[in-house]
Amino acid sequence: MQCEHEIGLHPVAARTPAGCEECLKTGSPWVHLRLCLTCGHVGCCDSSPGRHATKHSHHTQHPVVASFEPGERWAWCYVDQTEVDVPEQVLPYLRD
Ligand SMILES: [Zn+2]
Ligand SMILES: [Zn+2]
Ligand SMILES: [Zn+2]
Repeated sequence: MQCEHEIGLHPVAARTPAGCEECLKTGSPWVHLRLCLTCGHVGCCDSSPGRHATKHSHHTQHPVVASFEPGERWAWCYVDQTEVDVPEQVLPYLRD
């Protein structure tokens, strides 16, 4: 399904395609990566020590992230707390 928070998103390229923006600065490890579909922030998942994707969403109110793992095509809405479809316009910004 799509949710209302995905309507009007203008996806942008990942700001730090090499990994989690905060973890890269501190040298911390991460498990999986998530891409903020509002601003292109790359953050680590909730299985990672930093949980920077979730922290970013809470700080910025940016509602939807997509998996930034190779080959994965799913998105998560923090407001609705549910998995949602990846909007078609986001696909070029995800990893093969
Ligand atoms: Zn939503
Ligand atoms: Zn963001
Ligand atoms: Zn992180």
